[in-house]
Amino acid sequence: MSLIVMKFGGSSVGTIERMQRVARRIADYMEAGHRVAVVVSAMGDTTDDLIDQSKQLNPNPPAREMDMLLTTGEQMSVALLSMAIHQLGREAVSLTGWQAGFRTEPVHSKARITDIRPDRILRALDEGKAVVVAGFQGMTEDGEITTFGRGGSDTTAVALAAAIQADVCEIFTDVDGVYSTDPRIVKNARKLAEISYDEMLELANLGAAVLHPRAVEYAKHHNVKLIVRSSFTHNEGTTVKEEAVMEQGVVVRGIAYDKDVARISILGVEDVPGVLAKVFGALASSGIDVDIIVQSGVQDGKADFAFTVSRGDAASAIGIVESIRSEVPYREVTSEQDLVKVSIVGAGMVSNPGVAAKMFEAIYKLGVSIKMVSTSEIRLSCIIAAEPVQEVVRALHTAYGLDTTEQAFVGGPQERR
Ligand code: ASP
Ligand code: MG
Repeated sequence: MSLIVMKFGGSSVGTIERMQRVARRIADYMEAGHRVAVVVSAMGDTTDDLIDQSKQLNPNPPAREMDMLLTTGEQMSVALLSMAIHQLGREAVSLTGWQAGFRTEPVHSKARITDIRPDRILRALDEGKAVVVAGFQGMTEDGEITTFGRGGSDTTAVALAAAIQADVCEIFTDVDGVYSTDPRIVKNARKLAEISYDEMLELANLGAAVLHPRAVEYAKHHNVKLIVRSSFTHNEGTTVKEEAVMEQGVVVRGIAYDKDVARISILGVEDVPGVLAKVFGALASSGIDVDIIVQSGVQDGKADFAFTVSRGDAASAIGIVESIRSEVPYREVTSEQDLVKVSIVGAGMVSNPGVAAKMFEAIYKLGVSIKMVSTSEIRLSCIIAAEPVQEVVRALHTAYGLDTTEQAFVGGPQERR
């Protein structure tokens, strides 16, 4: 008998029939003697639909009203799910984020949790009820409703699991676990039995939509054991925890790619102190996230820089670089859009010098040139032209011994954020 947090994403409760299936699953856990707290997202595309409606009325809606609006999506889900559980003869109580005791910073649309007061949840659990909590929302000290940002229900689930000291936090979604790479492009991608928090965090930050990065961070910090699994099957999922077992001889856990990459190059920059500080300071104060930065050697007192940003930020990044030209003289600024970032991730990489060489070799064999490289202790990323990305991912998957003959992938496209 355990205390379990079960989280269901929007597509898992996207229709009445799916909602009933989720209720059945919760009732089964209760029948088995577990105490369950449930976190649920807004049904299907509800959040997107609400955003569309708001934009028709006001292209730039006040953030406070936006939070007020978006939290209704999750409120609808918890009430309906609770009713469905009652229909199966089990007791349940739905709670909004603020009723569940989630306190946040006074920031709209991306608030962080400051405190959770779970007394009410614990009382209801003691009464034998399933507690159904609305995802991605809380309240400030002043009583204002806030949200945690798109995909924030994962964070609600993990934070709740930490606050009530649950044995495990199960994330039910529309894929049956975390894969070694995107199973839509590599048919022998394997479902991972285990992955460490750090590896999962790298993959989540690289765009693996199966878990929200902030939730993984929170889980690592509070040592919450996560299981990612399908809401449509009973297959075993992937466990995310501190130390994950690596199969013998395997150093790379997963391969990710990100198509949202643009490269900006600033050519012929005067090599005087403070240039980098000025360029990246200006970008940062406009809220532009810079990923990889490369500086070439200096020749005739001039240097070249290149950095990557997301495609949506490319035009403003160029505008900013042009606006500081009088302070930072340079010859030319250019941008390229048709690029991708391919990354290998694995805790075993730290102590294995040949790992990088193998990646470069596999990419070189395909006749693809590498434009930029960046590394962390457990990740190596290369920027390449977008065109051959599928071949590159497949080649890397094979090169690092990740191919499997089983075809375990179940499910369609991953949950939308
Ligand atoms: N409904 C919100 C969203 O779609 C929160 C979530 O699903 O996690 O972003
Ligand atoms: Mg959603």
